[in-house]
Amino acid sequence: MKLETELNALDRLLLAEATDGFMPAKVCDIHAHVVEPSGYAPGSVAAHLTGVTISPASYRAAMELILPERRLVEALVFPFPARQHDRPAINRWMYDQIATLPSSSPTQGLAIVAPTDDPAPTEEAMASGRCRGLKPYHFYVGRADTSQVTVEDFAPEWMWKQCDRHGAVLMLHLMRDAAVADPINQEQLRRLSAKYPNCQVVLAHIARSFNHRNARGLRTLANCPNLCVDTSAVTEAEGMRVALDVFGPQRVLYGSDYPISHLRGRCVTVGNQMLWLYAEENKAPQMTLIGIESLIALRAACTQAGLGAVDVQRIFRDNALAVFAKFHA
Ligand SMILES: [Zn+2]
Repeated sequence: MKLETELNALDRLLLAEATDGFMPAKVCDIHAHVVEPSGYAPGSVAAHLTGVTISPASYRAAMELILPERRLVEALVFPFPARQHDRPAINRWMYDQIATLPSSSPTQGLAIVAPTDDPAPTEEAMASGRCRGLKPYHFYVGRADTSQVTVEDFAPEWMWKQCDRHGAVLMLHLMRDAAVADPINQEQLRRLSAKYPNCQVVLAHIARSFNHRNARGLRTLANCPNLCVDTSAVTEAEGMRVALDVFGPQRVLYGSDYPISHLRGRCVTVGNQMLWLYAEENKAPQMTLIGIESLIALRAACTQAGLGAVDVQRIFRDNALAVFAKFHA
């Protein structure tokens, strides 16, 4: 898989179809990754990221490809997760990199955390404002197979409590086969979001509805005001449409999932599973970028839902700024 740095004629055509007269002039990206390669154990990072460094600054420059004309204003970044690495050191590298950016490039960072981590370093970093929330991940649960871990398995209560104390973001990538349609995940999300109402929960990838049929599970979470979803790496309109209908346009946030956005491919619903298709693996160079597919899907969902410019502006920026405004409020 290859991280694209240029658009071909098809990409340009599809990007124009996705954005012309639709995408606002200023965008906040709520979901993007940085990569500090020295911190990753050999073989632990996806091949396309091996030996790659993605700083907050290089990420911002790369986004010009799909958010042209300097649309990207605010961004929320976090390290790309891998099973074996020095989380506190990578988090510190990210905070330091962010601190070098000019104020014209407002960028916030989430710390990657494991259930067994000492909460003290992130507590200190949040108190000083260097860390704006937590990014747990299923990889960090100490089991060989982490595909079926529950929310509490990978995001135990100390993380909710810490984010609640600071009004910080808790970015969750749901696991288990049915993701947000899973009753155990639903019960835990309802209970913990009610207990920690100041914890700003972002359910990544439309609550991981890469199989859009799972998005119907969002209905059980409609009355949890501190839960929202991001659109990152979702390339089908159906799940986004459910999120818009159930959560409303004030709780759906644009995210790119860079560097995933810059791979050629698409993720499609098949039966009760998802299928990731990549141009190289499928010998299908006519595919476009995942980030462009995701924008096409978002436009389709917004159009089907009958949203106007104000709601579209909310999704691309205002909702994220409202989330950021809760920090130390
Ligand atoms: Zn991601």
